[in-house]
Amino acid sequence: MVTTESDGDAIDSRLTIRIERRGARRYGCSGCGRRTSRVRSTRDRTWDDVPWASHPVTLVYGQRRVWCRQCGIRTEGIEFADPKARVTRRLRQQIGVDCQSMPTSHAAVRHGVSWGKARRAEHAFLRDWDGRRPRRRPRYLGADEIHRGKAQKFYTVLSDLVHGEVIGLAKDRTEASLAGLLTTGLDARQRAAVDAVCTDMHRPYANAVAEQLPNAAIVFDKFHVLQHASAALDDVRRQEFFRAGAVMRAFGRGKRWLLLRRWKTVRGSKRQELRALFAVNRRLFKAYVLREELDHLWTYKTRDGVAIFLWGWLEALRWQRLPEMEKLGDTLVRHIDGIAAYCDHPVRFGVVESLNTTIKAVLRRARGMRDDAMLLLKLKWATARPIRSSGDLARFLQPQALYSNR
Ligand SMILES: [Zn+2]
Repeated sequence: MVTTESDGDAIDSRLTIRIERRGARRYGCSGCGRRTSRVRSTRDRTWDDVPWASHPVTLVYGQRRVWCRQCGIRTEGIEFADPKARVTRRLRQQIGVDCQSMPTSHAAVRHGVSWGKARRAEHAFLRDWDGRRPRRRPRYLGADEIHRGKAQKFYTVLSDLVHGEVIGLAKDRTEASLAGLLTTGLDARQRAAVDAVCTDMHRPYANAVAEQLPNAAIVFDKFHVLQHASAALDDVRRQEFFRAGAVMRAFGRGKRWLLLRRWKTVRGSKRQELRALFAVNRRLFKAYVLREELDHLWTYKTRDGVAIFLWGWLEALRWQRLPEMEKLGDTLVRHIDGIAAYCDHPVRFGVVESLNTTIKAVLRRARGMRDDAMLLLKLKWATARPIRSSGDLARFLQPQALYSNR
């Protein structure tokens, strides 16, 4: 039974719809679901529902308090909304899906609810989605630090590198942050399935992995290793720039970004500029070539191959008098285990990078978000990308009956 009333004639006036159950007077218990006819009292409660035309809609229903044989006094179970929710489940779905592609404030306006209601609906929507997902057991994990904000705030992000999804998020970048994620974010079966963890050459992470996953190998992320190499090349550039005379300064000015780019990404006239720079400075040229050659570290099938290559690389460095590159060589030798581990565990570095790009985009949009639980859910959604087709979207927005008289 339904009666409607409107609070005015304006096109955006609120419609109030009073609903009542018909038929059998037995009500479900919100605790166990068992039906009972022993009603203690009735109290009107309201829920926001999907708008009708341009009118926001409020549902009013007299919710019973029932006496259940098993649970005692409980409120009546409501099928169209979560317990304690102030919006119906179908409105929650619409707001939740919209919030993943627009700011919460826009979704709130579109669905005629306050910002706070939209935010709570989004949180409930994401929690519900995350709770229904199967727990996967990935062979490869990624642990990475994400820089956030000026106040030197870091996050540690744990991700599934097989499916390219975020698993967990923790404050700081300490050993304890990652250890906490490995123990709380994964259950024992999931931990046992891990073959390797991809990290940067950050000591605390390696310690946490060794402690929590003694059987997993550590694979150093290629991107981070090459970042160290680029930093070394930059040091060489700075030294040369200050030491050499006017000619070098004339050629070297404003070339930093060009020099740090990989040769394969440099085109046409820019290659000419680099060649001109290298012609006046052989040391810079040598350092550049050494950096470029490091790509080979990830092309071998055996650990011996990697070791032999690194020996050759160090050999080529020997008489060059490039202390910055020698320092890099020491770092590589110290971390050879984690670099060569790639032979046994071919982690997809491309997934690591695309995950980082997605995470940074979400963080940028979520600037100022204080709620880390919500942030994690948003990261999970953005990386898992559960809506890839119109069929997926339809499933998320599937219309649900307001009530059934089962
Ligand atoms: Zn019950």
